[in-house]
Amino acid sequence: MVARHDQTTDPELLAALLQARRGTAFFARKLNELSDAELDGDSLLPGWSRRHVTAHIGYNARAIARLIQWAATGVETPMYPSTDVRDHEIDFGATLPPIALRHLFDHSAVHLNVEWRDLPEDAWHHKVRTIQAREVPAAETVWMRSREVWMHAVDLDNGAGFRDIPVRVLARLLNDITGAWHARGTDAGLVVKVTDRNLTYGDATSDSPTLVSGPLAAVVEWAAGRGNDGVSAAGPAAEAAGGAVPAAPKWI
Ligand code: ZN
Repeated sequence: MVARHDQTTDPELLAALLQARRGTAFFARKLNELSDAELDGDSLLPGWSRRHVTAHIGYNARAIARLIQWAATGVETPMYPSTDVRDHEIDFGATLPPIALRHLFDHSAVHLNVEWRDLPEDAWHHKVRTIQAREVPAAETVWMRSREVWMHAVDLDNGAGFRDIPVRVLARLLNDITGAWHARGTDAGLVVKVTDRNLTYGDATSDSPTLVSGPLAAVVEWAAGRGNDGVSAAGPAAEAAGGAVPAAPKWI
């Protein structure tokens, strides 16, 4: 008989699961508020309609469920055969009739949740590989999914903003983004200051850095490449742009 509750008892993991489930519910709410005709509208992502975002979130749940099956069985089942296949799948999903697109989101989310729920305690430590070829424990998939549902709920351009994303999610997102910049060296001469949390990221070695600052939600929105609302900039790059906030370095 299959248990109706999570097999893991790790409090940190249970909290992460709750956050991912709340994010999924938030995405569902923003999606369900849209009429079928409104699905055709633009998302906040260049070149992507709301249909593309919805298809991506549905296929992402299936891809992460494959990683959980991998962790459970030891049989390697990658997220996607390749990034080309993933992109092609999203383009195809975006053409589905509205009811099929909504089912894709609903069913894939339920399926992933069952896979997470039934994964035995010790299997959460098993290593799987992401599409970016990172080796991670299965537990990391919870954050991978959380990040997707919360941020892409905003991308649906249906009234959600970064201010709606929980602080812990925003903080971890900013860590990921600034970590990616650092790993690539694209943050040279850039300092990012979160004014309402007293946090500083970026290049600590520069004598005259460009300083981008603002409250957490606004800084993460900027860092994720989603706009400049609520952030301000000073220093060389801002002066060169006539006081405008420079674009954040790319992070994916
Ligand atoms: Zn995504």
